[in-house]
Amino acid sequence: MIDSHAHLTHPDFAEDGVGALVTRAEEAGVNRIICIAYDIPSCRETVEAAEKFDSVYAVIGLHPHEADRVDDNDIIRVEEMARHKKVVAIGETGLDFYRDWAKRENQEKLFRASLEIAGRLEKPVVIHDREAHDDVVATLKEHAGRFPGGVMHCFSGDTGLMESVLPLGFYISIPGTITFGKKEGPLHDVVRRCPEDRLLIETDCPWLTPAPHRGKRNEPAYVRFVRDKVAEILGRDPEEIDRLTTENTERLFRLGN
Ligand SMILES: [Zn+2]
Repeated sequence: MIDSHAHLTHPDFAEDGVGALVTRAEEAGVNRIICIAYDIPSCRETVEAAEKFDSVYAVIGLHPHEADRVDDNDIIRVEEMARHKKVVAIGETGLDFYRDWAKRENQEKLFRASLEIAGRLEKPVVIHDREAHDDVVATLKEHAGRFPGGVMHCFSGDTGLMESVLPLGFYISIPGTITFGKKEGPLHDVVRRCPEDRLLIETDCPWLTPAPHRGKRNEPAYVRFVRDKVAEILGRDPEEIDRLTTENTERLFRLGN
């Protein structure tokens, strides 16, 4: 099993350290973790974690929340760090019009610069999209064919959004929110209609802890609860979902075996 989106360097994990998270993940059958950066210090720490642990891969980039704070030098530093062989993608990048912690024009500028880095380095992108679906899709379309696809992480759209990003070479990553509540939501339809070879699972830890641990801190070991819920929705064995999401994550991030 692979957790396709974890923030192992987040301060909430400072006491445990990355090693404890990796060990607990392995005990739960999660043998690889894609660790995602969001600002310059976390880029550095994420590369360090990937150098230290075979099972950890790095995704380097600047979160849209950082857009008012970063300058051209930061973007150059990201590109330099992203050349590292264990950096498998650029991100997380995208647009966040829900929190709006940075000016929208600055978010757009940073998003475009990140897509250009992905194009130059021929690495996929990890996209953060909150209440910015139309603008994210428009920007991705502008750059279509110039970078090797990516993943819509923590997917929060409907099947319409999914249909518009699949032709751009995108994967759909299902977070712990799929385990919340008893009622069906749009994400259930996304799971059912997503092509089998485009589905990923993630924790987005330390946030979005799946049931039965909802409300506590999340960690990569808990990605199995997302896998189990996806299996239940699709009427499949958890082992099958494990196998196919693992293959998809390996293909997207070119992990090899
Ligand atoms: Zn994230």
